[in-house]
Amino acid sequence: MTTRTCLTFLALLTLTSGSMGAFTEEAKKALEESIQADSDRYWDASRRIWAWAEPGYQESRSSALLAELLREAGFRIDAGVADIPTAFTATYGSGQPVIGILGEFDALPGLAQGTVPERMAVENSNGYGHACGHHLFGVASAAASIAIARQIEAGQLKGTIRFYATPAEEGGGAKVYIARAGLFDDTDAVLHWHPSDQNSAGDPSNLARIAAKFRFHGRSAHAAGAPEAGRSALDAVELTNHAAQLLREHTPDFTRIHHVITAGGGAPNVVPNFAEVYYYVRHPDATVVQSIYKRLLKCAEAGALATETRLEVEYLGGTYNLLPNSVLAKVTLDNLRELTDLQYNAPERRFAEKIQQTLLNPKPLDSIGKALDRSGTVTKGSTDVGDVSWIVPTTGLSAATWVPGTPAHSWQAVAAGGMSIGRSGMLLAARALAATAWDLFKNPEVLVKAREEFEKRRAGQNYAPMLESGQRPPLNYRNKPR
Ligand SMILES: [Zn+2]
Repeated sequence: MTTRTCLTFLALLTLTSGSMGAFTEEAKKALEESIQADSDRYWDASRRIWAWAEPGYQESRSSALLAELLREAGFRIDAGVADIPTAFTATYGSGQPVIGILGEFDALPGLAQGTVPERMAVENSNGYGHACGHHLFGVASAAASIAIARQIEAGQLKGTIRFYATPAEEGGGAKVYIARAGLFDDTDAVLHWHPSDQNSAGDPSNLARIAAKFRFHGRSAHAAGAPEAGRSALDAVELTNHAAQLLREHTPDFTRIHHVITAGGGAPNVVPNFAEVYYYVRHPDATVVQSIYKRLLKCAEAGALATETRLEVEYLGGTYNLLPNSVLAKVTLDNLRELTDLQYNAPERRFAEKIQQTLLNPKPLDSIGKALDRSGTVTKGSTDVGDVSWIVPTTGLSAATWVPGTPAHSWQAVAAGGMSIGRSGMLLAARALAATAWDLFKNPEVLVKAREEFEKRRAGQNYAPMLESGQRPPLNYRNKPR
């Protein structure tokens, strides 16, 4: 945010006749000033995490940097929670209420990209890129947590703010393990956000998901000289995939089944003795996902049976669909609407126009000046925030860190997220999260209503993580198969 837009915002706030009185409005303004004062530092941290682009569960530098930011601000760090080296909680204050803010920081493979408006793969060590904007996610959430902590320190707010450093959102599901460890059990509400091509709040739901890797072990032989002596692990993968395609016709509406082959042999003249296929199953209802997964498993068993190979299943666990909370979503949407002030300067507009030429569905650039209400919608992605939302009333928002029309997991997201467009969106998210947390500290009756809605929506359904008993976090899920 420029100084000018900051002043405009402050002027607007002064004009707004808030229901909470002048004194508290002043205090709420201090949140803004706190985030603005440290904005260069926050951006520097995001840029470093962007450049490191660390894979899930290997985010040691990104995690340490976030912990350092929070430690310096006086937070107590509980490192390596839930047997995950890069997960931690950072807590400030004491007593009720306890408000949690989630932060993510893992990157995606194959998407390393420069901050330029055309595809330019950059040479970094691992080819990973921040195509889901998690370099902004973790830092904005930390910034909001720090702004709240300063108000607790100043005696303006009473209670506890807790930042959750949650690694490996992209398929590693750390929040499920953090949830199983009971670390959300004493929390009254949890806030999160996500980088996006638009600003929005109002909770959508999404798809529950189960992930699994099917590995097949066969027998190598010369593919021309002695094919009868070979048992192809790749054939097992192909049969599994064919069976899964047939299964697809007989699944409930809104099911998604998709896969990649992560190992399929090395040379045509060698019968592959090892192959691996990696599957996701999704549906808006977690119980449906569990039933489809059982049927998918039969497809893999069939593949092994017919090819005389041995099947090894690595069940990577599941994540729940998001349980929306309208009470919390309304507070978030009100704050986001009040704070949304994004507009491109001339170089950003030129950058954005060039990016738009590469998009299949570009949207109007001025849409970054609006905040949309997404209540009642169902998005087609999945997130381990879903599990958190079944334990504690949870709500989130999105901020425009990408050029309108940019899909997540694209090089265009890496490019815009690494330059000033990403910075402005990140700061908007930090301000909106801090303002929402502030309202929850100040209005305990909102937390009571949010809890009532939570109980009603859960309708007595108990949360049980979709993990096998004693299942350990898949800390090496981003390693290449052998
Ligand atoms: Zn993401």
